[in-house]
Order: sequence, then C-alpha cells, then structure tokens
Amino acid sequence: MRKRILITGGAGFLGSHLCERLLHMGNEVICLDNYFSGSKQNIAHLLANPYFELVRHDVTVPYYAEVDEIYNLACPASPIHYQKNPIKTIKTSVMGAINMLGLAKRVKAKILQASTSEVYGDPEVHPQPEHYWGNVNPIGPRACYDEGKRCAETLFTSYHAQNGVNIRIARIFNTYGPKMSLTDGRVISNFIVQALSNKDITIYGDGNQTRSFMYVDDLIDALILLMESKSEIHFPINIGSTQEYKMIDLAKKIIQLTGSESKIVFKPQVEDDPKQRKPDTSLTQKVLPTWSPKISLNEGLTRTIEYFRQEIERQG
Ligand code: NAD
Ligand code: UDP
Ligand code: UDP
Repeated sequence: MRKRILITGGAGFLGSHLCERLLHMGNEVICLDNYFSGSKQNIAHLLANPYFELVRHDVTVPYYAEVDEIYNLACPASPIHYQKNPIKTIKTSVMGAINMLGLAKRVKAKILQASTSEVYGDPEVHPQPEHYWGNVNPIGPRACYDEGKRCAETLFTSYHAQNGVNIRIARIFNTYGPKMSLTDGRVISNFIVQALSNKDITIYGDGNQTRSFMYVDDLIDALILLMESKSEIHFPINIGSTQEYKMIDLAKKIIQLTGSESKIVFKPQVEDDPKQRKPDTSLTQKVLPTWSPKISLNEGLTRTIEYFRQEIERQG
C-alpha cells in the first residue's frame, strides 16, 4: 500500500537518500527543508516524479499535512554548520520536534527521530550502550547540538508516554557517502577533498581519537526497518558500524585509496572533541536481527571518492 511520508531535512545528505529510497519503494514523499545545510541539487533528479513533493519550510514553524509517517531529520549535522548559529540549532531540534510530534499526534502518524551518538558526548563508557547516559558539557561549543538532540529524545519519549504517539528513536553514529557536501566540514568529506586536490590533510589534535563509520545505504536500510518494525520500539536504538578507526589511520587510508600526494598536518585539537566513539549494538541486534552494516570502509570510501571526483569536476 502506498504511504504518504514526510521527511524533514529531506534535501540534506541523509534525507535525500531516504527520499530516493522511499519513493523507489512505491511511496509518496513530501520533502520539507529550509536549505540551511542541504541543497535542491540533492533531490533535483526526483522533481519529475509525480509522487514527490518539495516544500520550502522551517520546522521551527508549525506545519499541517495528512501523512502516515514522519522521518524527522531536519538539523544541521556538521560541527561547523551547527555552531554557526547555535540558538537556531537548538530551536530546530527542540521546536522542530514539538511541531512534528504535534503533527504526528493530530494525524496519528508514526514518527522517527534522527538522534545521534553525540548524546553520549565525550563518552567515559566504551563502546556506548543505549543505557549509558553520556558525558555532555551543557555549555560547550557542541552543546547546542548535543543538548538539542537530547531534549528532542525527551520530547519524543514524553509524547509517547503522555499522548500515545507511536515513536522511534535512532541514535545514528558517523555516516558518510555520496551527496555529502564538499564544504560540509566533516572528516570524511574534508579528507577526500584535500586528498583529491593534493592539499594538506588536516588532523585536529594527535589523530588518535576514534570514530566508527557507516556507509549511507546501510543506515537507510536500518532507518526504514526501524520505522516499519511491527513490535513497538519506543526507546532509543544505536545504529552504527562497530569498525572503529583512529583519524590518523583514516587519513592514511584515504591517501592510499586516492593515490594522493597530500601530506598529513596536525592542527590544534577541537574543544570538547569526543576522544572515542563506537556503538554497543547488543540491543540493535535484538530489535533488528536481520540488519548489520554490509559495506566495508574500503568499499564505501571508494564509492564516495568517485562521487567527490565527479563533483569537483562538475563544480569546476
Ligand atoms: P545535513 O546537514 O546534510 O542535513 C540536514 C538537513 O536539514 C539539511 O538539508 C538542512 O537544510 C535541513 N534543515 C536544517 N535546519 C532546518 C530547519 N530549521 N527546518 C527545515 N530544514 C532544516 O546533515 P545529515 O548528515 O544529512 O543529517 C541528517 C540528520 O541526521 C540530522 O538530524 C543529524 O543530526 C542526523 N545525524 C547524522 C549523522 C551523520 O553522520 N550524517 C549522525 C548522527 C545523526
Ligand atoms: N502542530 C503542527 N502541525 C499539526 C499539529 C500541531 O505543527 O498538524 C504544532 C502545534 O502548532 C503545536 C505543536 O505542534 O505548537 C505541539 O502540538 P500539541 O498538539 O502537542 O500541543 P498544543 O497544540 O496544545 O500546543
Ligand atoms: N577531524 C579532523 N580533521 C578534519 C575534520 C574533522 O581531524 O578536517 C576530526 C574531528 O576533530 C573529530 C573527527 O575527525 O575528532 C570526526 O569529526 P566530524 O566532524 O566528522 O564528526 P563528529 O566529531 O561530529 O563525530
């Protein structure tokens, strides 16, 4: 049966992949975005599809539509973007969640929140299970994002408890792939752009900090499975890869895969930068037993490098 699905932040990196997949599965998709960090180009190829609708709208403002499902992805995700206007970032997470939950309550839609591993802050528990409450500095430079996302989780949980809204919360770990913006500022896009132009690869700090990277297609599989799960999973679920890498090793890998002549340079450490990050996926395996990431880092990086090569050429 064709569902009508609202995707906020649909013109962003992850949102555009989700729009494409859900349309492909035979659904009707409303893509809502204010283009703060996304772009029309990401979804331009979908505009001719009669089941696709593009709406310029800001989630901090109420929105009315009849929909069956809502994926709430609106929020800048790269530190340089979300720190540009911290108050706006908090409003987007908090007021955006309130408005989308109000909409879900009124039309009885199922609603999924794109939460983040950043709710664990600079974690003192490793790997991070969902029952770990985290270590977030509430007044640091990352707080607008981390605390906004934490409050959104609280709102989702409260709308479920108080109003019976059918919610899902995905705690997404670092995800990469084609359609990340060249100027996004996150580590994989920075390193690939630097490597392809033979510029210095910038490591913030000593490069021993770790992240676990998941390819975008694996994430999209998980989000749809979580949304469609028949059992009511009204609590946060980690979605991420358990393959953990040091940034110094990531830099070397990207230099090797691109055949670049770039040198690695070390820049000052970023304030409150988490030192390590890797999901404990015990609960994920229980609630999504058929899912695990399929694309290796080598394969995913190769595809992403190819995309960036074409984009650099296209943008001149
Ligand atoms: P992105 O910046 O490419 O996409 C975010 C989209 O939201 C953009 O298109 C942007 O224009 C839109 N947006 C921002 N503020 C808005 C507002 N007030 N109203 C309407 N639209 C607005 O980032 P992404 O990587 O695609 O992330 C998507 C979601 O997934 C975000 O909520 C992010 O926090 C979450 N997430 C991403 C990752 C990751 O590694 N990519 C990890 C954890 C969580
Ligand atoms: N809201 C929305 N679309 C709707 C229904 C509600 O954007 O279709 C907004 C509404 O404007 C409100 C918020 O969602 O600010 C929360 O709605 P709720 O019904 O929970 O609370 P109330 O309307 O009582 O503030
Ligand atoms: N990073 C880096 N060089 C860059 C961009 C990022 O060394 O050019 C580091 C950053 O300090 C962090 C890691 O890479 O330790 C991941 O950063 P990103 O912004 O991609 O994601 P997040 O910190 O939100 O996980």
